[in-house]
Order: sequence, then structure tokens, then C-alpha cells
Amino acid sequence: MAEKTLEDIPGVGPAIAEKLREAGYTELMSIAVAAPATLAEACEIGDKKAQDIIEGAKLCCDIGGFETGDAILQRRAAVTKLTTGSKAFDELLGGGIESQAITELYGEFGSCKTQVCFQLAVNATLPEDQGGLDSDVIIIDTENTFRPERIVQMANSLGADPEATLRRIHVARAFNSQHQVLLVDKAMELSRDMKCRLMIVDSLTSHFRSEYLGRGALAERQQILNRHMHDLLNFATVNNAAIAVTNQVAAKPDAFFGDPMRPIGGTIVGHTSTFRVYLRKGKAGKRIARLVDSPNMPEGEAVFMVTEEGIKDE
Ligand code: ADP
Ligand code: MG
Repeated sequence: MAEKTLEDIPGVGPAIAEKLREAGYTELMSIAVAAPATLAEACEIGDKKAQDIIEGAKLCCDIGGFETGDAILQRRAAVTKLTTGSKAFDELLGGGIESQAITELYGEFGSCKTQVCFQLAVNATLPEDQGGLDSDVIIIDTENTFRPERIVQMANSLGADPEATLRRIHVARAFNSQHQVLLVDKAMELSRDMKCRLMIVDSLTSHFRSEYLGRGALAERQQILNRHMHDLLNFATVNNAAIAVTNQVAAKPDAFFGDPMRPIGGTIVGHTSTFRVYLRKGKAGKRIARLVDSPNMPEGEAVFMVTEEGIKDE
């Protein structure tokens, strides 16, 4: 069967196809998963036209309808797991962090959210027979905490070439929440020319938290965060990529029992994240990961270490 092109979408002639390509929509899948308003703005077409094009693209790449369980099983067969560096942590997650999904790491300052992200980035560049994805990595850094020196340490301890590892890790500093959202579009562009099976957003929520203050701003914040999360999921689907995001915690004002900390971002972040992992400090370099929410794994905890060499078992 010949591969379909943009011109195969009903109602898309050469002129619109060119507009779409110029706006970066070079593949049917990226159109099929686009939001109508975004596509309309990018290609300077009406909302109705954009909607029709998206529907047409969905039909062309055969997504958007109901699927039988065996078809889903087949797509799920492409899901890969990326090792965290700790067997115990991997087992908690059912083998590592999954592609086609968002894994949220939340916890207090110093709970090693960023360290786990660094280790995932290094591991993703490893060959597949070493638990890696032989892939490039995209990092959206909102807190200016990316440290190449730390990547070098971790790469060295795995016997990987540190220079080559750094060359496969593409870091963008997001200056505000709007910039952060746009960087996902940029990442989508980048991923057309390279294999990118891991994207990290560290932190997902810090800009949103500091920019949208007070009750009045909440609805808008949640709306933009919701779109951002769905953009990330689209990236995960199109690239069969794993997405790791970090999140801060805030004290629950009404907590008398249990852990008084909860992740920020409200239900939007909670519902869009496929896996939620709560990280906290233990004694002497130990860290505890708690799986809080997963579609197919039981709740539980794993203990791992953070050392000079990176994330390890205790
Ligand atoms: P978070 O992102 O959750 O705020 P980090 O990932 O920055 O936290 O974790 C910081 C912790 O990581 C430090 O407190 C330290 O315990 C550990 N850490 C950082 N670098 C090293 C290193 N080179 N060797 C050992 N531990 C380290
Ligand atoms: Mg951090």
C-alpha cells in the first residue's frame, strides 16, 4: 500500500498542503492529533475548515474511532520500558518508565526528582540491550537545574562516552509558562529528524505556580496546563516516547492523617499522568519512591539510592 500524503486528506489541495507543511504539519499523524484552534491559527484557515482537515487526517491514518482489543494489544506491543537505574524502582513501575505515557515524579525540594530525570536521560541514550532506547532526549528545563557535569558522572559510571551522551541530550531553558508550552511544538519539529523516545519536563508546574496567582487565575492556568499535558501526550503517541515530568508538592491545609504533602496542578495533572510517583527522602542517601496511581500496577514502594554514580539499588 502506497504511503498516504497530506494531499490525500479530503479538501486539501496543493495550496493548503503547502500551508500545512510550512506550519510544520508534515505528517498525517501530527495533523490528526492537532487541536482545531491551533491548526486554524497556524495555517490561517477557519476553525470549521481546520476541524474538517483534522477529521480527514484521522481517517487517513486510521485513528480516532473505536478499536478492538486485539488492535490495542498490538499497539501496546510497541510500548517500551526505560530503566531508572534501580531494579527495585523499575519493578515498582512494571519494568521502567513506559513509552506512550506520562510519568509524573513529584516530591519536595531535594527528593531527587531532577536526579532521576538525569539518570533517565543518560539511560535513554544507551543501547537497547542495556535497558536503553538508543535515542536522543529532549529536556525542557524550567528551573535552570540542568547540569552537564552530572550527566558526565553518570555516563562515566555506565562506561558510556560522556561527550557522545551529551551530544544526544537537547536542553531548552523555558523562561515562562508560555515559552514552556511552545517548546513542545519545537520538540515535535526536532523529533521529525531524529529518534526521540524520551522527553523530560523539569519542572512541569513551577512557572504555572508562580505566574497564575490567586483564585481568579486558576481556571486559565488549568486550561493552559491541560493543553500542555495533551501536547505532551501527543508527542508520546507520535514518537512512541516516554514522557517524564516533575511536580512540586504543597502542604495540605486539612491533613491530620497520612502524608500531608500533595502534588500541585490539581486534577488536570493527576488525570493526564499515566503513572504518578511520589519521591521522598530516606536516611543516608536513600530515597523512597511510592507508586500512587497506575492503570495496571498495584500501589507500592521501592527504596533506591542516589550516589555519585547516579540512581542505584540500595
Ligand atoms: P529535586 O529536583 O527533587 O529538588 P534533586 O534531584 O536536585 O532534587 O536532588 C538533590 C539531591 O541529589 C541532593 O540533595 C543530593 O542528595 C543528591 N545529589 C546530587 N548530586 C549528587 C552527587 N554528585 N552525588 C551524590 N548525590 C548527589
Ligand atoms: Mg529539581
